[in-house]
Amino acid sequence: MLGAWGSRAAPAPEDPEARSQMTTPHRSGPRLVGRIAAAARSIERATRPMEPERAAALARRWDELPAGVRTPEQMLGRRIAGCEGTNAVFPRCDLACSPCYHSRDANRVPTDGAHTIRQVRAQMELLRELRGPGQPAQLIGGEVTLLSPDDHAAALRAMLDAGRKPMSMTHGDFDYAHLEALALDPATGRPRFRHLSFAGHFDSTMRGRRGAERPGGEAELDPFRARFCAMFARLRAEHGITSFLAHNMTVTPGNLDEVAGVVRRNRDAGFRLFSFQPAAYVGNAARWGEGYRAVDPDDVWSRIEEGAGGRLHHRAIQYGDPRCNRTA
Ligand code: SF4
Repeated sequence: MLGAWGSRAAPAPEDPEARSQMTTPHRSGPRLVGRIAAAARSIERATRPMEPERAAALARRWDELPAGVRTPEQMLGRRIAGCEGTNAVFPRCDLACSPCYHSRDANRVPTDGAHTIRQVRAQMELLRELRGPGQPAQLIGGEVTLLSPDDHAAALRAMLDAGRKPMSMTHGDFDYAHLEALALDPATGRPRFRHLSFAGHFDSTMRGRRGAERPGGEAELDPFRARFCAMFARLRAEHGITSFLAHNMTVTPGNLDEVAGVVRRNRDAGFRLFSFQPAAYVGNAARWGEGYRAVDPDDVWSRIEEGAGGRLHHRAIQYGDPRCNRTA
């Protein structure tokens, strides 16, 4: 670059064509400087601890929080605006859980790819406006694998385009062929995602899983948990696509005492996160059972600690209201 600027001192040739060629570096100089400055600005923005748009969204989130949860350990409004998800877009599911948070009419709604992509895009645009970029969002139905692999991929792409970090929520009862078709571009056979995040729901309240239609207990589902993780390990081995896997379990009075065993036996299965949701009286009343309110968060936490083999400090990090969420 210094050499180019140095050529300004050379005498102009007589030939007009040669002169015009020679003047090109003079005109392009400011443009080059502009491009370098723009590149430097974009590098500076990209290497900031946080983009300005996200910082503004987090500040708004913090301001909206009730005073009682604006504690030093609160994550909302500091590092994250919240974990959100798609809402009421494709509620149909081919399993039947007791309980399920979907309404009695959920299975009357056809799973429609074009409608899903349109609605996911619209919801993500709204979340981008409200919550800023770089936030997690769940692609949640119903059952996500009832979408075709291409529609599933297009929905994830719409989320990525809106600056979200998508996670597909599934019951896990699908085959490697769906995962591979989702992950690879059908035109080229090459990966269309470098990374996929999935949350698999596995617990004995679920009915209709192939090979475990009415599980008698949590241990019966361990091979299905392992199979789920193995599909993603295979995807990485064959195509280099990495994954983040979460495990979701609904906790009722009937399986509370099995929480420790689920953690103990599956902690090294390949899941990076375990999440336990005490059952709630939400959704289809025909699928509700007895005694959900008797499951106390302290009871669930102590079973998780028992399975992990040690005390877990859930007051170090706060995520929203501690009456709803505990994290360690
Ligand atoms: S897997 Fe999820 S959506 Fe399907 S029935 Fe169970 S709770 Fe409902």
